[in-house]
Amino acid sequence: MIIVKAKYLIPNPDNCIENGAVAVKGTKIHHVGTFDEIEVLADIDKVIDLGNAVILPGLINIHTHLDLTNLHNRIKPTTNFTHWVFQLLGARMRWKEAEYNASIEKGIKLSIESGTTTVADIANTEYSFSVLKRSPLRKVVYKEIIALNPDHARDVLKKTQLELTTIITDNLFRLGLSPHAPYSVSKELYQTISHFAHETGTPVCTHIAETCDEIEFLTKGTGGFPSFLRQIRAMPDNWKHPGLTPIQYLNETGILGNHPLLIHCNYVTDEEISIIKSSGSSVAFCPRSYHFFGHANHPFQKLLDAGINVGLGTDSLASNDTLSILDEMKFLSLHHAIPPNTLLTMATLNGANALGLESKTGQIMEGFEADLCGVRLPNAPVGNIYSQLLDAASKNIFTMVAGNICYHA
Ligand SMILES: [Zn+2]
Repeated sequence: MIIVKAKYLIPNPDNCIENGAVAVKGTKIHHVGTFDEIEVLADIDKVIDLGNAVILPGLINIHTHLDLTNLHNRIKPTTNFTHWVFQLLGARMRWKEAEYNASIEKGIKLSIESGTTTVADIANTEYSFSVLKRSPLRKVVYKEIIALNPDHARDVLKKTQLELTTIITDNLFRLGLSPHAPYSVSKELYQTISHFAHETGTPVCTHIAETCDEIEFLTKGTGGFPSFLRQIRAMPDNWKHPGLTPIQYLNETGILGNHPLLIHCNYVTDEEISIIKSSGSSVAFCPRSYHFFGHANHPFQKLLDAGINVGLGTDSLASNDTLSILDEMKFLSLHHAIPPNTLLTMATLNGANALGLESKTGQIMEGFEADLCGVRLPNAPVGNIYSQLLDAASKNIFTMVAGNICYHA
């Protein structure tokens, strides 16, 4: 049995234990308490003392594209989303397996070092599955599906099904489907995916309500998307705009019946918020990526107030500077009056909920998977434990996934 101890232990957002410790047996949490209570247990093989640090449930990053990690600082900053996508497509046009693998591996390393124990990653190529599978992270890898031409819906799903049957999942690895976004997926494809995911119990996520351009494209068929889609030869001749807002549109496709993870929801109306709430879907909020694209006033507080499960994502390094969920929490706390335990809830419990992992991870509880991180606190403590945790100088120094020490600085 391994004991991990530190000056503080926050097993869940509403509880802090001074001189806390966690006893880990195999892949699971065996006991949680003060070090005095834990050190008398039998069969202790090793004690890891993190010192002036706080042990937290492993952080959960519910939206990222690890295959884009090596595009950090290679995309010119722009608030024009279609221009950004165009640059991105160009930058990785010549990438082959080696480039993709290196980029994903770098992303895994950075995630682990920053205290992330679970990622929800979007797989644009087959490489994401194999590289992530052999990583020690807990992961839900969503196969990205793209086809705006309604005539292609059946064939695209068939091809996807075939690809998924070759992938073997395990305790740390779950598969999902990601119909990309309403400007790249036809209504027919959303419907087909919805049926398949429902029958097979496959989790679903989709990018939605990300830009004003997307809303204009769906409601009026105009804006930046038509010309962009024509430029990349992805605009079908028979495409007709539905005349609906993004969430209304998803609702009509039936995909909301799958309780999907809704990525972004940057622009949603009160009516759409109630649709999201009654669908039981979760929302992935990516604060610094949101800021990168020049958006302001994300409705996350409204979503939380409505009782919607909102978790945190970093998005990729093509629109962010780090893959650290702790950095997302610090950014939010700097720019919004948001209680630290709400931030922690979003980064842990809500993340686990969004990925259907709430009975395994997201808190430090006896019987749960031993997914932990340890954040070193600033040398000169200012304020309470939460302000120390959210201080610019705090830093993750320890990451454990299912009892496996993946990182110890
Ligand atoms: Zn994304």
